[in-house]
Amino acid sequence: MELKIVVLVKQVPDTKNITGEAMKEDGTVNRIALPAIYNPEDLNALEMALQLKDRYGGEVTVLTMGPPKAAQVLRESLYRGADQVALITDRRFAGADTLATSYTLTAAIRKIVPDFDLVLCGRQAIDGDTAQVGPQTAEKLGVPQITYAARIDSLENGKITVRREFDGGHELVRARYPVLLTVVETANEPRPPKAKKMMALKNAASEFELIDRLKKYPEFTDIDTLRNYLKQKGFYIPIVTADELDIDMDRIGLGGSPTKVKKINSVVLSGGELKLFETTNESVRSLINELVEDYILG
Ligand SMILES: Cc1cc2nc3c(=O)[nH]c(=O)nc-3n(C[C@H](O)[C@H](O)[C@H](O)COP(=O)(O)OP(=O)(O)OC[C@H]3O[C@@H](n4cnc5c(N)ncnc54)[C@H](O)[C@@H]3O)c2cc1C
Repeated sequence: MELKIVVLVKQVPDTKNITGEAMKEDGTVNRIALPAIYNPEDLNALEMALQLKDRYGGEVTVLTMGPPKAAQVLRESLYRGADQVALITDRRFAGADTLATSYTLTAAIRKIVPDFDLVLCGRQAIDGDTAQVGPQTAEKLGVPQITYAARIDSLENGKITVRREFDGGHELVRARYPVLLTVVETANEPRPPKAKKMMALKNAASEFELIDRLKKYPEFTDIDTLRNYLKQKGFYIPIVTADELDIDMDRIGLGGSPTKVKKINSVVLSGGELKLFETTNESVRSLINELVEDYILG
């Protein structure tokens, strides 16, 4: 069985480095000001896809919706073994909440891999932290969803059996595919990028990066011949704009987003006063009283 697997990945601000410039006046994230990384659980989703391909054969397609610089997570996906990638990018997608994001991603999946067997997402993105895009995309694709996927136990006769893991337990769930899974960080250890692939693909470029690449390929005098060369070599990162998707323009980007992020604060939790208690009944009683007084208990 050859599987058609789509992996949705997001480039996220490295939230460990949030600065005052993080937010723009209009409440959207100032992505330019923050170092960008591959969303951690999306690496687990990609690893699960690559393990399925190793086991059953097939093709892994990685999609991301984001600004031009998000091409970097697609290059990193190619370094790890993805077969094809696409950058879903357009100024009209900017400021999208989860509703508009899942709407756009659904249209992109339908255009690029209409006969998919599996869509794999991370459980959650570390910036919005909503864990909503996976389930919303499944809903719009009209396929079953299995969230918190930690392991695929079997894949046969059109059915998939998945072990879900969540606080305090796990369960085995079976569904017919096509199906969408959201993957947790405990699912696997993402394989490192292959050095040979990194050397070969480091110059893989999207349309936005061609001018920059011309400097690296002095033998090419113009963008068109360079683009054709990169396409032949499989180093061309295709972009998909709003005009190439079967979508209602009122349902994308900030305009298509009922949720607006008003403000984000960088909250740094610091250790407070440390108090030691004896393990005597008396002492435990006074600890409980204190917790009740502080409205932590009761
Ligand atoms: C601090 C903050 C709070 C926010 N709060 C809300 C809110 O309450 N409601 C709301 O609707 N929006 C909210 N947003 C906007 C939201 O972040 C964006 O809509 C975002 O594109 C998707 O939501 P998420 O980051 O929560 O992703 P999640 O739903 O947590 O992402 C889950 C998975 O979906 C896939 N995915 C998510 N985004 C993309 C993408 N752009 N391209 C490809 N795959 C993707 C990835 O596999 C990811 O692991 C918030 C943004 C910020 C920065």
